[in-house]
Amino acid sequence: MCGIVGYVGGQQAVPLLLEGLSRLEHRGYDSAGVAVLTTSGIKVAKKAGRVRDLSEDLPKRFAGKTGIGHTRWATHGPANDVNAHPHTDTKGDVAVVHNGIIDNAAALRQQLTEAGVDLVSDTDTEVLAHLVARSDADTLEGKVRDALAVIDGTYGIAVMHADFPDRLVVARNGSPLIIGVGEKEMHVASDLAALVRYTTTVAHLDDGEIATLTATGFTTYRMDLSTTAKAATTLDIDPSVYDAGDHASFMYKEMLEQPAAAERVLRGRLDERFGTAHLGGLNMDPRETRAIRRVKILGCGSAYYVGQMGAALVEELARIPADAEAASEFRYRDPVIEPDTLYVAVSQSGETIDTLLAVQEIRRKGGRVVGLVNVVGSAIARECDGGIYLHAGPEVAVASTKALTTMFLGFALLALQLGRVRDLSIADGTRLIAGLTRIPGQIAEILEREEEIAAVATRLAEAESLFFVGRVRGFPVAREGAQKFKEISYRHAEAYQTSELKHGPLALISESVPTVAIVPDDELASRNVGALHEIAARRGPLVVVTHEGVDLGEVDAVRIDVPRNERELDPILLTIPLQLLAYHAALHLGHDIDKPRNLAKSVTVE
Ligand code: GLU
Repeated sequence: MCGIVGYVGGQQAVPLLLEGLSRLEHRGYDSAGVAVLTTSGIKVAKKAGRVRDLSEDLPKRFAGKTGIGHTRWATHGPANDVNAHPHTDTKGDVAVVHNGIIDNAAALRQQLTEAGVDLVSDTDTEVLAHLVARSDADTLEGKVRDALAVIDGTYGIAVMHADFPDRLVVARNGSPLIIGVGEKEMHVASDLAALVRYTTTVAHLDDGEIATLTATGFTTYRMDLSTTAKAATTLDIDPSVYDAGDHASFMYKEMLEQPAAAERVLRGRLDERFGTAHLGGLNMDPRETRAIRRVKILGCGSAYYVGQMGAALVEELARIPADAEAASEFRYRDPVIEPDTLYVAVSQSGETIDTLLAVQEIRRKGGRVVGLVNVVGSAIARECDGGIYLHAGPEVAVASTKALTTMFLGFALLALQLGRVRDLSIADGTRLIAGLTRIPGQIAEILEREEEIAAVATRLAEAESLFFVGRVRGFPVAREGAQKFKEISYRHAEAYQTSELKHGPLALISESVPTVAIVPDDELASRNVGALHEIAARRGPLVVVTHEGVDLGEVDAVRIDVPRNERELDPILLTIPLQLLAYHAALHLGHDIDKPRNLAKSVTVE
């Protein structure tokens, strides 16, 4: 969420910073700004709106070889020019960009005001600039340390100072920062996407670390300024994966990448001989795996809904009680952590702050937590006792598609492994492996029916309000479908258990409120069809995502049939048409698919 870039080296900083910021645009933000060290001190340009608006409006003589930039997602004060970052101290010697939230900002603002400081913005961030400027320390690192010492909250920050023109000082606590090592130049960014065009040699900062960047190198420190001697590593990534190429949007590109991503997450992890999965990264031997009595899955948004699909898989295959909970709620209810529960944290970015804090809460209480994470080396991946990397490749679009698909398959692998050390038979294990192997091809089959699904979507897009309904395995599918639809089409889309309709929401069904019903060919199919009749009797338009051969009776419905797999694995195939529905509804309504309003890709503020 929001973004930071920084540069120090031999080139003009502004074009590099603006290019970096444009790479972070998809993450969701409301204003942008840059600061550079010019021959006459620090100059700042910042503006509410897009990076393009900022670039078009840069002041003359805005040149320098050290600079920082930011895209803001407002938490303290409205999105306007003044509240945009960078923030400076009164003299303009210090400039700061910040991702995150300073919890004690109100008290610090008051102290500064009482000390005679004139605060110009409504932000929490501005206090940092004044605190750095007021420190007596004789190095910039010391000044930043002094400022951070009185701050409670989360941050990724980058700081520059007119008296220390050769350097940037950056620090992390809860919001990601990655240092990029170039040829006689250093970059920093909150996301790899902003770095890969310049370098793939990087070092991830850990929470509680400060770093100095100069043109010739970087040094990392703990908060007490003892060095952590972190080294950079060169990543094996192709920078072009961060380009949408010929595709109209990243979401569209990433939907199409799903068959390949599904193959990658399964690769090398299926053991046909023993009908099981091998997940070496879990770091658990069979004895420990057998001792698990409960599985608790934690995630936010789509990761939470796919967590519910995962919990169903674990219960069905391993017969271990399992459930999913929103990580954002979990840590605030002082959860009871049990020694024989396996906690699973799910996050595409591995930086989702609510999930990260839940992981820390579990570990603080001695629980065992494994991660289902896409971004290698991310904070959650590092904090967990073990995990499953998703290998989805970089996911840029806010609306998750391929990461979610690989999460589901990751859960299927986990459930299979847990099941096979318990009572799942080798025959069932083999049956599921065969099913998993068919999934990439079946996803491709559904994607090929885009045109037919797009026609349904354009009709749904006309409705102000819709229901998505499903039961048991189908309910998280409905939740994810409604989520995707609302986040990019801005239509009110509500998920309900089909069985609960008659306990309330049926009152809302009418000609103008369509329902998308998930009706797999499983043991609940006939009951689901009964509910469709109840909706049709109230003239509610129906779209039914189902399997060929399911008899919908006399109901007048548009049906979308998905290929059959093993029942346990149905949810992911039922989810794919819902992505296309959301995508085409949003496209029809003319929305910016990759930059949905008010949303951000990885939510790194609480
Ligand atoms: N809390 C800061 C603000 O409201 C930073 C928000 C962000 O992460 O962009 O300005």
